[in-house]
Parts: sequence; structure tokens; C-alpha cells
Amino acid sequence: MDFDDTQEEAAFRREARDWLSAHLAPRPPARMDSYFLRRPIAAAELQASRAYQAIKAASGYAAITWPREYGGYGGSLMQQVIWNQEEDRFLAPVNVFHLGIGLAGPTIMAHGTETQKKRFLPRIPTAEIIFCQLFSEPAAGSDLAGLRTRSVRAGDKWIINGQKVWNSLAHLADWGILVTRSDPHMPKHKGLTYFIVDMHSPGVEVRPIKQITGGATFNEVFLTDVVIPDENRLGAVGEGWRVALTTLMNERMLLGAGRQPGPGTAAILDLAARCMTQGQPAIENSAVRQELADLITQQEALRFTGYRALTALSQGRPPGPEGSIGKLAAAQLMQHIGSMAMGLQGASGAVMGAQSIDEGLWQEMFLASAGTRIAGGTDEIQRNIIGERLLGLPADIRLDKERPFSEIPTSTRAAAG
Ligand SMILES: Cc1cc2nc3c(=O)[nH]c(=O)nc-3n(C[C@H](O)[C@H](O)[C@H](O)COP(=O)(O)OP(=O)(O)OC[C@H]3O[C@@H](n4cnc5c(N)ncnc54)[C@H](O)[C@@H]3O)c2cc1C
Repeated sequence: MDFDDTQEEAAFRREARDWLSAHLAPRPPARMDSYFLRRPIAAAELQASRAYQAIKAASGYAAITWPREYGGYGGSLMQQVIWNQEEDRFLAPVNVFHLGIGLAGPTIMAHGTETQKKRFLPRIPTAEIIFCQLFSEPAAGSDLAGLRTRSVRAGDKWIINGQKVWNSLAHLADWGILVTRSDPHMPKHKGLTYFIVDMHSPGVEVRPIKQITGGATFNEVFLTDVVIPDENRLGAVGEGWRVALTTLMNERMLLGAGRQPGPGTAAILDLAARCMTQGQPAIENSAVRQELADLITQQEALRFTGYRALTALSQGRPPGPEGSIGKLAAAQLMQHIGSMAMGLQGASGAVMGAQSIDEGLWQEMFLASAGTRIAGGTDEIQRNIIGERLLGLPADIRLDKERPFSEIPTSTRAAAG
């Protein structure tokens, strides 16, 4: 493991920091931000997001790992990590472009035709178009290949019917990356086809989902007789799983690219100094100090585990399955920090509102943390990866892998049969 920047990495870090300090205000160490889960993203925030993205694009920093011909910086994944680390030191507007830059763009680069690349890619870093990801369905999440949204070919068009769910930012998106079942008679991974769908097409209905935090940043998307021209198919017919794997691999890298969900321990130390327990600042109470020490230990363990992945990246190797340890531990740590912060606030910890300490951001963090244990692969799925790929335990039994999808029993079919 190597903890230090190479000479080139240090030079890029300086370059990033110089640019960021010229365009953004620095973030105070204990500052918390809303996860934008308590309320809709306001028009002014969206405008600020677009404006910041456009300035980054003009300076070449909008998509660090993308080739320059599509508006990227032409940098390495390690440079992306450095950029993220540095950007987190500043107060940047909310980012609604990460699904386009992190998922849709790289998938189009890998599988798109030249026409598709020229049509979509240059408009993503410049904030012209927002993408969403239409993968999960009510009965297909961890087992994504079990999806049922149907695509039926009609000449040079496809007709799409089905339902997607948990689609972040779909209510703001112009385009979506969509996986469908084009042949139910093939085994489940083989009969899939991947499309780029215009979210403004007739038959696309986006319904925001009200979340436990009170906001609605993700959605159900209903697709009823939606027409997609064949020129918007990404990859070959029946090759949708292969294309989707590119998206999922990039999603994993996006999750692991040096950003941690929620504030670090600096913010909770600061909170513990402001809250009172038994007539003294909570930070002086021995039980509180013990729990804080536990959190700091967890965070440090997470940081050092992260260095393994960073060392691999720095040496040009892809991040390995140890990313699953980071994802698992970071989401649980976020929940632990939120829970402790609410406890420090005493009875008022149970109230979330403008009158709460730090405007209720701790409560919001605690409530949002359940979602981070699900998104991008649940805790159990991460444990499966750790068990199978790191510990060499026997693989999950998958009896339905080779059967035609139409013959896999479901509760409806079993009841009918
Ligand atoms: C904040 C957030 C944002 C999201 N954004 C998007 C988005 O933009 N686009 C999109 O398409 N989707 C999105 N999702 C959906 C996300 O990908 C799925 O929720 C996730 O893959 C889990 O699928 P599921 O919800 O269907 O749960 P299921 O897969 O049905 O899992 C239910 C339970 O069973 C467990 N389980 C399932 N399979 C196994 C197994 N093999 N071994 C052990 N346990 C298992 C799971 O761990 C879980 O506890 C988002 C989710 C969240 C929370």
C-alpha cells in the first residue's frame, strides 16, 4: 500500500485545488449538507448546478476520465478520485449530472455506434442533458436479470411496456438508460436489450416516490407503448446484459471513487461539543467519548481499507472486490453517526425541522442512511461478494440461470398452475 501521491498525482491535486479555490468557497471541516432528500431540488439549485457544470466543462474538468474529444479531461481514474477528494473540500452546488457522466456516458463510449457517440456524449459534460438509470423493477433489483419490462420490435422501432422503480432524478432527466426483455424464451441473462430512451416520449410517466425523509428524489417510471427508434438501441439485440454490466461496473467505480456518504467524524465531534449531557458538554462524558472513539476507529479502518483500492487505481489496476468492504462499512457507519447524533440531542433528537439543531440535517442523515445500505448493491449482496470473491466461499446457488425466462416459476405462475 502506498499512502503518498506520486509526483504527477500531487501536481494534479495542486491544479485541482487552484481551480476549485478560484471558483468555490471552502467548506468548513464540520459543515454538513442536506442530501436533498427532504425537499425537491429547487429551480435555483438546478440552475446553480447547471451553471457550475458548464464552467467545469469550459475548463475541461467536467468529466475527468473521459477522452478530450467528448469534452473530458483525458485523465485517469486516480485523477478522478483526487478531483472528488478536493472538490469535497469546497461548497459545490448539488450534482445532477453524475449518472450521465458516471454511468450513461461510459456505457455509450463502450457500446455505442459512432453516430450515438457524436449525438449524446458531447452534450453530457456540458450540462445540456440529464440522464437517469432505468434498471430496477418491482421484482428485479439485486437479481436485475429477472426484469420484465418488454421490448417488441416493430420494423425500425421498438414498443416498450413495463415499470421501473427507484429511479434517481428521473423527474429531472431528459434521457434514460433502459434495460428491457426482448426475448422471454431465452435464459434470463440472454434475452435482454438495452436502449437510450427519450424521457419526454409519449407513454413515459414519472411518479416521484415520497421518501421517509419527506423528499422525493427518486421515482417510479411507467412505460406504456413507448416508441424507441432502433437507432437508440445500445449494443446488439439480446446483448443487453453485457451492456448493463458495463454500466454496473462503472456504478461500482462511481461509488468507490473517493467519496464517502455523509459527514466525517469532525462534524459529530463538533456536535458533541455543542450538546449537553448531565449538565456538561456531551464531549466530556465518558460514555459519549467511548462511542466517539468507536466511530473514529471505524472511520480510520475504512480510510485505510480505501487506500488499498486507491493503491490499485494509482498503479493502473481496476478496483477489486475489497470495494465491497468499503461500501458495506461506510453505509453502516453513516447510520451509526446519524443515530448517535440524534441521541446527543436528547428528546429533541426525535424532531426533524427548521427548529432542530443544524436544521434537522442529522435526522435527515439517519433516515437517508437506510437507502445507502440498499443502493448500488445491498449489504447482503456486498457480503456475498466478500464471501465468494475474497474468502473463496462456495457461490450462491442459481438454479434459474440456464432456463428460458418464460419457464421460471413466479408466484403468479405457480398460483395459476
Ligand atoms: C437511494 C437509492 C437510489 C436508487 N437509484 C436507482 C436508480 O437510479 N436506478 C435504478 O434502476 N435503481 C435504483 N435503485 C434501486 C437499487 O438498485 C435496488 O434497490 C437494489 O438493487 C436492491 O434491489 P431491491 O430493492 O429490488 O431489493 P431486493 O433485491 O428484492 O432485495 C430484498 C432483500 O433481499 C436481500 N437479497 C436479495 N438477493 C439476495 C441474495 N442473493 N443473497 C442474500 N440476500 C439477498 C437483499 O439484500 C434485501 O435485503 C436505488 C435504490 C436506492 C435505495
